[in-house]
Amino acid sequence: MSALGDILKQRIALNGPMTVADFMAEALGHPTHGYYITRDPLGAAGDFTTAPEISQMFGEMIGLWLAECWRLSGQPAPFVLAELGPGRGTLMADILRAARMMPGFVEAADIHLVETSPALREKQRAALADHDVTWLEDVSALPDGPLLVIGNEFFDALPVHQLQRQAGSWHERLVGLDPADNSLHWALASEPSPRTALLDPTLREQAEDGAIAEICPWGRAIARSLGERIAGQGGVALFIDYGYGEPAAGDTLQAVGGHDYAEVLDQVGEVDLTTHVDFAALAAAFREAGCQVPGLLTQGDFLQRLGIGARARTLAAKAAPGQGEEIAAALHRLIDDAEMGSLFKVLAIGPVAVPLPGFDPA
Ligand code: SAH
Repeated sequence: MSALGDILKQRIALNGPMTVADFMAEALGHPTHGYYITRDPLGAAGDFTTAPEISQMFGEMIGLWLAECWRLSGQPAPFVLAELGPGRGTLMADILRAARMMPGFVEAADIHLVETSPALREKQRAALADHDVTWLEDVSALPDGPLLVIGNEFFDALPVHQLQRQAGSWHERLVGLDPADNSLHWALASEPSPRTALLDPTLREQAEDGAIAEICPWGRAIARSLGERIAGQGGVALFIDYGYGEPAAGDTLQAVGGHDYAEVLDQVGEVDLTTHVDFAALAAAFREAGCQVPGLLTQGDFLQRLGIGARARTLAAKAAPGQGEEIAAALHRLIDDAEMGSLFKVLAIGPVAVPLPGFDPA
């Protein structure tokens, strides 16, 4: 068992079982042993890789999209350009390079990165050395003004509560101690959970006994806060992640280490924990805040509508011998349905009056 695993066991022995959300928050964000706090998990030598690390084309398409959104909203200057969970800073660097084709955009951008990991802040500082950047712990600290905000694989890292249906009512799933060997094990609260009220009504009524449903209050609160900003002060938001577009039951909590799946309760703090994002809940929070939310696009459709195919051909034509195949392989990974193309979804948000390029009107 890891050092953090021992700490959590002691805490459970003292205070009783903890919610899955508390467990996730500690595993990922514990101030000294949390997974994201202690390391850069990305890349071939790390635990997983992400779209911006696969190819510069991903960030370039998003940079062009943001620049066009900025133009359509009347080129506000200055504006806040923010990224949530920016990893190594690769996506933001690619965005800023591509968006140079829109005169005035980069100069007007007041760049803010919302990042809790000291290890990753260092990487971001290096990747964005040519720009003035402000780091924040939380979206609530973003300055006022029009806001263009993005996040790739951000919401999947936020803690979720899991409720399980038992004899017609929903109970909070817990992490407790197995009396037999003192290891971490799954448990269920005996009383029905007050969080039942946060479940989608149809899911709440119609799921079968044994079904597990996930609720991410933290994600909903961030969506509401960003949504109020965008509805009131202008801007757009774009979030890319794996997840589902309609309310659904399912235990999607997964652990990944060394590019392979691991056990959620083993190696606490040493492996990444994520869940699939409930895009319907996020979209509802943005709508309640007064925003326009068009239907989700798959990552494959989004990137192709923005012209990633043409971009790949341009890059390949200029590439050194051998690099053409790398570009084709990266394109395939980003857009093919058997790869990231349809598992990953793209959620766009704007004020009601502004069109969102590439998306079908809400
Ligand atoms: N967007 C990057 C990294 C994705 S990994 C990419 O696509 O490569 C998740 C990122 O979110 C990391 O940068 C991690 O440190 C950050 N993160 C996780 N929880 C966070 C939180 N509560 N607040 C801010 N950042 C968080």
